[in-house]
Amino acid sequence: MNTSTAIPPKSTAKAVQQQEAPHLTGGFFLTDFMDPKDLFISEEWTEEQQMIAELVMDFCEREVQKPFFKRGRELEISRPEDREEVMAVFQKAAELGLCSVSIPEEYGGMGLDFNTGVLFSEAIAGGFSFATTIGAQTSIGSLPIVFYGTEAQKQKYLPGIASGELIAAYALTEPSAGSDANAGKTRANLSADGSHYLLNGQKIWITNGGMADVFIVFAKIDDDEDLSAFIVEKAFGGITIGKEEKKMGIKASSTVQLFFDDCPVPVENLLSGRQAGFKIALNILNTGRIKLGAGGVGGAKMSVTRSVQFAKERKQFGQAIATFGAIRHKIGDITTQAFALDAALYRTGHMVDEKTQAFLASGMEAGEAKLSAVREFAIECAILKTKGAELACYATDEAMQIHGGMGYAAETGMEMGYRDARITRIYEGTNEVNRMLSVAELSKRTLKTKEIDLVKAGKAIPGFLLKSFLPFKSAAPMDHAERLVQGMKYCFLLISGVAGKKLRKELVEAQEIVLNLADILAETYVAESVWLKLHKLHLSPNNDPKMRQIKQQMMELSLYEARDTTHKAAKDAINSFATGFQRRLLLVVVNRLLPGSAMNPMKLRRAVADYVIEKGEYPF
Ligand SMILES: Cc1cc2nc3c(=O)[nH]c(=O)nc-3n(C[C@H](O)[C@H](O)[C@H](O)COP(=O)(O)OP(=O)(O)OC[C@H]3O[C@@H](n4cnc5c(N)ncnc54)[C@H](O)[C@@H]3O)c2cc1C
Repeated sequence: MNTSTAIPPKSTAKAVQQQEAPHLTGGFFLTDFMDPKDLFISEEWTEEQQMIAELVMDFCEREVQKPFFKRGRELEISRPEDREEVMAVFQKAAELGLCSVSIPEEYGGMGLDFNTGVLFSEAIAGGFSFATTIGAQTSIGSLPIVFYGTEAQKQKYLPGIASGELIAAYALTEPSAGSDANAGKTRANLSADGSHYLLNGQKIWITNGGMADVFIVFAKIDDDEDLSAFIVEKAFGGITIGKEEKKMGIKASSTVQLFFDDCPVPVENLLSGRQAGFKIALNILNTGRIKLGAGGVGGAKMSVTRSVQFAKERKQFGQAIATFGAIRHKIGDITTQAFALDAALYRTGHMVDEKTQAFLASGMEAGEAKLSAVREFAIECAILKTKGAELACYATDEAMQIHGGMGYAAETGMEMGYRDARITRIYEGTNEVNRMLSVAELSKRTLKTKEIDLVKAGKAIPGFLLKSFLPFKSAAPMDHAERLVQGMKYCFLLISGVAGKKLRKELVEAQEIVLNLADILAETYVAESVWLKLHKLHLSPNNDPKMRQIKQQMMELSLYEARDTTHKAAKDAINSFATGFQRRLLLVVVNRLLPGSAMNPMKLRRAVADYVIEKGEYPF
């Protein structure tokens, strides 16, 4: 690292930083390998960070889970008799400081670093609907002001949001503008005296909307092509708040429609510049996405703990169901997936922090530095959102299954978790949109901005293939894992390269193939992250060799699964665009890039499950 204290000029900052730490470039994982020493792993949390996570988890247990069991049913904000209790829980969360995690200290916030904020999102998953409520307050509802607000706007709104005195919401979606967010019809027209904008239009699905005091509202000024963003107070008037939506899950979380009828917004409440709203919306969603991924990891870990506790108690055929292979399979599987995604999650969160530091050192302003750093890892954030949401849904489904009929009964809360998890695949950009976005962002950085050279990286494929015909001498699982991860990267490079050449612009329309590519990309990132994590753990062995062995087994199992998912996606893509000799050749090459392994998945899953069952909770 360059230890010089001189501040490089802004224009060269990025180049300097990339020279110093190439892994701090988004998408770098595809073309190169990160030094495991540079990887952050969740075993490295400081005591203070662990305390924050424990405080949040304690809160969720005390104020959300225990009252749920006592009451015997979930809170529904659409029921007037529950509303007060929902508000009371929110106030208790605020008193503990849970609304202030993303707000800088000078405005009354905790000023946490980014990765601790991600950890917070994992911990708050135990709050079920409250994870959504607090998430909207600390992320999409307040970050537009943190990152884009003027000093006066920050002074005016952030302290109130941090203390919970003001409840915040983010209003982007409209009846005709969901995934196509820029298609909104809400209009902002300047008043005759130029002192304020008059907002007219309708927003739907607005989290916290029924209880909010401040809304970040996106609207087009006159006939602008792009959205602008406004800070709108409920007190401005001209806002009608719809009834609470009846939803499948997150029933304690407020979700409403908003109707604006000549709502007067002072001109000084325009956020950033005119037509800057679409950029704000996209950038804020990047932050929200990694946090949603964290929620998925938190939900999965909690599912493991609840399932293990139940499976040890519940007896059938004269024995605890935890002894059955079918149950151990599920416990081993969810645990392994949570462990692997944890590796990718905190790797990314830490890289955002490192990149922020690099931008700060280049002279960038604090908010812009953080935002640019998250933006840098937009590909990884989209992957984490998708994988986290899928994991949350899978884990809560299987946890419910482990509970049998009791899982279906409202009183255990398992079906609530299942219903609550489902929304994560839909909001903050649907999983399909996020998967396509990860590939689109990568191709932009390859073809347009030329930050990543996929063609150069792909040139190494023939050499790798030649080597694959030689007997692979090493018996070390880590070497096998490295070879597989490299093969997965080449698999993406190969298929995207050939499909791109063959289909050209038509590839964008062939969404099925793009989604195959997105799946390979996501599998590769997570597989590499868990493999790197094990590398790091081997470099500094912890005191518990048994635990390290289990982690090694989870890594092997993760890669075993990732290989098969990648293989299926690769095969689907090839069969969708290639024919004849090209098709046959590509399929042969993919088989060489992704050799199957002779490991015993039953043995690995059982080893993981037995360890978790012995500990009685998710122990890693
Ligand atoms: C409980 C809840 C809370 C929410 N909270 C908020 C909030 O606080 N603020 C806010 O602004 N919004 C919020 N939303 C809205 C949410 O972000 C949108 O629902 C989401 O972005 C999807 O938009 P849509 O519902 O219009 O679906 P659509 O965009 O109509 O999508 C329908 C289907 O089509 C697919 N699809 C769409 N476009 C494409 C494409 N180009 N290619 C391929 N497939 C495509 C989607 O993947 C999906 O499967 C919330 C939604 C819910 C349900």
